[in-house]
Amino acid sequence: MRIARIEPFILHIPVTGGSIADSTHRISHWGVVGTKIVSEDGLTGYGFTGTHADLASDRLITSCIRDCYAPLLVGEDASEHSRLWLKLARHPALQWVGRAGITQLALAAVDIALWDLKAKKAGVPLWHLLGGASKSKLEAYNTDIGWLSIPKDELVEGARMAVERDGFHRIKIKVGHADPMTDIGRLEAVRRAIGDHVTMAIDGNGKWDLPTCKRFCARAEALDLLWFEEPLWYDDIGSHAELARSTSIPVALGEQLYTLDAFRAFVQAGAIHYVQPDVTRLSGVTEYIQVAELTLAHRLPVAPHAGEMSQVHVHLAYWHPATPVLEYIPWIKDAFADPATVADGCFLRPQQPGAGTTPTKDAFQRFAKPLA
Ligand SMILES: [Mg+2]
Repeated sequence: MRIARIEPFILHIPVTGGSIADSTHRISHWGVVGTKIVSEDGLTGYGFTGTHADLASDRLITSCIRDCYAPLLVGEDASEHSRLWLKLARHPALQWVGRAGITQLALAAVDIALWDLKAKKAGVPLWHLLGGASKSKLEAYNTDIGWLSIPKDELVEGARMAVERDGFHRIKIKVGHADPMTDIGRLEAVRRAIGDHVTMAIDGNGKWDLPTCKRFCARAEALDLLWFEEPLWYDDIGSHAELARSTSIPVALGEQLYTLDAFRAFVQAGAIHYVQPDVTRLSGVTEYIQVAELTLAHRLPVAPHAGEMSQVHVHLAYWHPATPVLEYIPWIKDAFADPATVADGCFLRPQQPGAGTTPTKDAFQRFAKPLA
């Protein structure tokens, strides 16, 4: 399975309703930025990272794939993905400028494409290649009904519809207003509408400081929240550890962490309860597995962050025994040959060979952007 060609691509796909915002970000499209890897025997693997569809920075990722990684990969055996991951991730010149940011996002796309290729070669879905499914049912939680940009009345109605019409048992609501009591009012209204049996998580996207989080949590503890995601600045281990000690609401984070070492530091500090690796920000499936196993070894749950809108994580979550739940945001699924699909609040187990990363021809025609 020698690698013949590396062909990067950029797709910009619209989000629900034309625009969404949390406490920190406002976007109109999701960026699917990655690469096709073609083997000499004619197989094609696809991998990508997720971005805010900013074309200038998306092109930094594709040029890293084309100019830095492709020359190291062409002619190599694609099935030796562990060795190739080391070759790329520990390449002295690239390690000097990387280990996080552009080089890591680009490596995620390459590594996912290699795993997709390997699963297609074996003729099985990625979860099967990894060792089979550890569960018969994978619960989804709906994030797309809970954006901070949704007015309170619509938020309550959307949450009610997600539960009563669409069958979700789990939802996530964004928080992070200037006055945290505004968020308390929104959450109390949602809780009244959906009842006590529905699981509700919240996500602050790193907006608040420690005193604000403590004040908020003192009131929010009565709402029976599954977790408080990214309460504080992403890299601040000490403040997360202090918050985790001061409230009964579990702390979740990880979508902004780039490495196994970063996850280990949070876990060792007791600063995290729900561990949220993202295969598209870690350097692909290879490093994701390392983080999932680290988490399992500490008897904590893995709750992946869906930078690829769960196209790959649905495989990883069905496989990994410490993963009870997975994020659902439907923006890009219809752009893929094997869309991540939810029915009655649970993800369907993918059946097609590969990692779920093959875009449709139609998606390339409608959403592709020029690389230069
Ligand atoms: Mg989040």
